[in-house]
Amino acid sequence: MVYSPYLLKGQKALVTGGSSGIGEGVVRALAAAGASVVVNYHSDSEAAEKIVDEIKLANGEAIAFQADVSQEDDVQAMFAKMFQEFGTIDILVNNAGLQKDSSFVDMTLDQWNLVISVNLTGQFLCAREAAKEFLRRGVQPRISCAAGKIICMSSVHQLIPWAGHVNYATSKGGIDMMMRSIAQELAPQKIRVNSIAPGAIKTPINKSAWDTPEAEAKLLQLIPANRIGNTEDIAKAAVWLASDDSDYVNGTTLYVDGGMTLYPGFATGG
Ligand code: NAD
Repeated sequence: MVYSPYLLKGQKALVTGGSSGIGEGVVRALAAAGASVVVNYHSDSEAAEKIVDEIKLANGEAIAFQADVSQEDDVQAMFAKMFQEFGTIDILVNNAGLQKDSSFVDMTLDQWNLVISVNLTGQFLCAREAAKEFLRRGVQPRISCAAGKIICMSSVHQLIPWAGHVNYATSKGGIDMMMRSIAQELAPQKIRVNSIAPGAIKTPINKSAWDTPEAEAKLLQLIPANRIGNTEDIAKAAVWLASDDSDYVNGTTLYVDGGMTLYPGFATGG
């Protein structure tokens, strides 16, 4: 995909969990569209630095920053570093997330708390810091007609219940209500908050669901489009939601799922 380098020119973006999978795809796409990007990572500094180096080689601007999004101090230090390096923030992509799967009755409190704290509380902490800066700075008409944009990486599991993954599905359901409540509260200040709900995208988080022909065939039964998504499918949606092309879109979830939420089991009458 070729992006116009003017689409997000002059905009400053932060992508959490940006060193792998969907986050990496979004980082690369935002940079290609002209944004300066903070690549947040949790533990893989080598991967994050490699992405930063490649963006710089292509005349883009990027820095890597280690932070655990579930920790308030880490998040505040990350935003402080971003403001020191780039001056401000225009685009936050709340992408970091993980799974700790278990049957419901065997799920430990640690498994529950970890997933909720990274997937949901992490998005709250980052959104709050970004929103404070959007409100402080306001609209810069030459940069964007919004005072700021927040994109929350949710999942089809904000809608589809998921046995064996109660913590994960609950975190994504929570993201939906958090996203819409923030959007309602901040829309008058020209801040846009939206979610992307990916279906099955080939990344490390769900490797076991597609890395054998048998697993892939089983997964494809859930996808009317008959292909597993790739990180570019999500990155293209993120660039659009970050740009003024979506200026009238606020508080909505864009499902990028090849039709997974169309209840494919009912296609032949159920
Ligand atoms: P991934 O495992 O490659 O990416 C998740 C990223 O989050 C990793 O880089 C990881 O290091 C980071 N992370 C984990 N804990 C963190 C923490 N405490 N602080 C900072 N970063 C942390 O998998 P992915 O598929 O690219 O997932 C990205 C997002 O997309 C997640 O929110 C996931 O729930 C969502 N999603 C993925 C799919 C899919 O099919 N791959 C589907 C729906 C939603």
